[in-house]
Amino acid sequence: MSSRCPACDGVEFRPLFTASDRLYHTTSEQFQVVECKQCRLMQLAPQPTPAELEQYYPTHYWFTPEDSTAGRMEQIYRRFVLRDHLRFVERALRESQESGPVLDVGCGGGLFLRLLRGRGFGVVGLDFSVDAARVAWSANHVPTTCSTLSLAPFAPQSCAAITMFHVLEHLHDPRCYLKAAFDLLRPDGRLIIQVPNAGCWQFLLLGAAWNGVDVPRHLYDFRPADLDRLLESCGFEVLRRKYFSLRDNPAGLATSLAPALEPVARRVLQAKESASERLVKDLLYAALVAVALPFTAVEAACRAGSTIMIEARKKT
Ligand SMILES: [Zn+2]
Repeated sequence: MSSRCPACDGVEFRPLFTASDRLYHTTSEQFQVVECKQCRLMQLAPQPTPAELEQYYPTHYWFTPEDSTAGRMEQIYRRFVLRDHLRFVERALRESQESGPVLDVGCGGGLFLRLLRGRGFGVVGLDFSVDAARVAWSANHVPTTCSTLSLAPFAPQSCAAITMFHVLEHLHDPRCYLKAAFDLLRPDGRLIIQVPNAGCWQFLLLGAAWNGVDVPRHLYDFRPADLDRLLESCGFEVLRRKYFSLRDNPAGLATSLAPALEPVARRVLQAKESASERLVKDLLYAALVAVALPFTAVEAACRAGSTIMIEARKKT
């Protein structure tokens, strides 16, 4: 293998497991996940090229609100379950007291930023998908730029906070984004990241079937210690960690157990379903999410939740 470990520059890896695209079935290929022998960071090997990676993202990968009763219900649900994210970011902004916009990297359709703006904060979005940027602007009226973070047209030290929800695990070079975030943040600005937590119980129990593995779209699988090292090496110190997300953890377990029921995947795959079939599948999935809730709450209380949200600031 030719690639180096982005965390420690190590060149030796041990194979862990193989997995396929269980969620979107964009390819029938089997992918290997390996672990760095030096620091234990897990990564997909070999890493797909950017052109290959593009084929592994279905179109309309993010959420576009539909103008139907089911669509409106889904929109209400999405607003409700985003409250964890909003509270986490609000608290970070209150404690830092820096002024300036919140930049959401990988903003998708922009719902999070719309809700954050509703709470009185300046917001700007960034996504490398033109379609996502268009939805963020037209559906949620969020100013969004279509770019990578290192080429983003913002002044150095201009952002009060930068958020990256489920972004780092998709990047070839996560360190490059972290360094760009460092340059864009105000001196006491806050970086907030969320990724699947490969140190969770669900991964121990389900292995490659855990939806946080999400090959081939996830190029890295981070444990909390991997993130600490990565952030530290890019000039950050970790202030706070949260292992539960109402949006992600229960639904993640439901998706791991029954990927064929996942509503976005069914829409993306344009599953041929009658209205009643669709309703039954939606209800089954919702029931599975509800059943998953207590387990995911216990897992998170033991600091082994299936996602991790981190607040960090520049080291002083
Ligand atoms: Zn390493």
